[in-house]
Amino acid sequence: MTTTGIDPQPDRPAGAEVGDVMVLLVDDQVLIGEAVRRMLADEVGIDFHYCSTPVEAVGVADRIRPAVILQDLVMPGVDGLDLVRGYRAVEALCDTPIIVLSSKEDARVKSQAFAAGANDYVVKLPDAIELVARIRYHARAYMALKQRDEANRALRLSQQQLQETNLALQQLMKSDGLTGLSNRRHFDEFLLTEWLRGRRNRSELSLLLLDVDHFKAYNDHYGHVMGDDALRAVAQALASVRRRATDLAARYGGEEFAMVLPETALSGARLLAEKLRLAIEALAIPHGVLAEGSVVTVSIGVASLVPSEAQEPVALIEWADRALYHAKNQGRNRVEVVPA
Ligand code: GH3
Ligand code: MG
Ligand code: MG
Repeated sequence: MTTTGIDPQPDRPAGAEVGDVMVLLVDDQVLIGEAVRRMLADEVGIDFHYCSTPVEAVGVADRIRPAVILQDLVMPGVDGLDLVRGYRAVEALCDTPIIVLSSKEDARVKSQAFAAGANDYVVKLPDAIELVARIRYHARAYMALKQRDEANRALRLSQQQLQETNLALQQLMKSDGLTGLSNRRHFDEFLLTEWLRGRRNRSELSLLLLDVDHFKAYNDHYGHVMGDDALRAVAQALASVRRRATDLAARYGGEEFAMVLPETALSGARLLAEKLRLAIEALAIPHGVLAEGSVVTVSIGVASLVPSEAQEPVALIEWADRALYHAKNQGRNRVEVVPA
């Protein structure tokens, strides 16, 4: 329990406990300040502050953040109702309970006080028991409101975090750990979606299947760590030749990669495959195991069709795979297409 003039210190005054209900009385009459101080003197858990300078009241309230404001109505030079509106204009005080202390028992003034934003109206000076009861009632309601706001805020925050985590998780579930490209599962889903879209729109769907040449020898000679680096570099090349946001680059498995090209005809797919083959050759990753001065290269099989009811997406994969096999047989480091 503390009585201050215009509470000179923003910190909790000596004797006040954490959890005390902080009450701020704003009244120009020091006698009233003294009387209220005495009324609350023996009350446990009430931390009393007194401001006798109305023009400073909003600033003081904003600084000490009382749980209840007791506000005088008639003061020299300041209208108490203007002060009530003044508190309400401060975000931190917009819900602080305000009990207007007035010398008038007048229904019109009461109505104006409530309209200005007051929560209660008491003719001064009330009985100490009544004043304390009203202070405690309003303080309790205010604390409950603040707790609810805080809980809602925390809930909103955790919901937002959950959403972000889910998004990140979904992204992780779609991607390949080594290369960051789409993984096989996402490739399968994507190919099916595009297959169905192509069937509806009667549009061409192309597929590139790509396999690194003599990669077993590369691994055996340079080791798995460098092997992984080479696969990452190849993946990077796939990602960088992608022309459209709708094209999907994926790691199909091991040292095999795939590109799904929706609404792309064979000629376009073949051009892209050749560009990709050249881009990977241009990486100039040394692969001198079988021939000195050689670099890492890839073979690519290309297939393109308009999806039909009679077939499944696996038909496109098998076709591209046959083309890839042909590219290997024809000597590797090349792009091939075979008849359906
Ligand atoms: P080809 O030109 O006929 O494709 O010959 P190849 O040696 O590439 O073919 P094969 O399928 O026999 O070998 C694939 C090799 O790729 C086997 C393995 O050493 C390597 N490999 C597969 N997955 C990975 C991987 O994730 N990391 C590394 N470092 N190597 C891998
Ligand atoms: Mg292979
Ligand atoms: Mg290979």
